[in-house]
Amino acid sequence: MNEKELITISLGDVYELKKQHPCGTNKWEVVRSGVDCKIKCLGCGRIILIDRVELKKSIKKKIMEKTII
Ligand SMILES: [Zn+2]
Repeated sequence: MNEKELITISLGDVYELKKQHPCGTNKWEVVRSGVDCKIKCLGCGRIILIDRVELKKSIKKKIMEKTII
């Protein structure tokens, strides 16, 4: 098991991904967590649907923990 398998994707987490949005940003916020996740580009606010497995594979690093309200 590699370390990325252990990543828990939670709502509100911000990740730097290998995947770069056409607007030039590679920082994404998780806005929905499930089998399919929705992530929001922090550059332009566009939301895309991504497979959870795919998302984990493209994570470079975690920028921010979710904020507990
Ligand atoms: Zn963007």
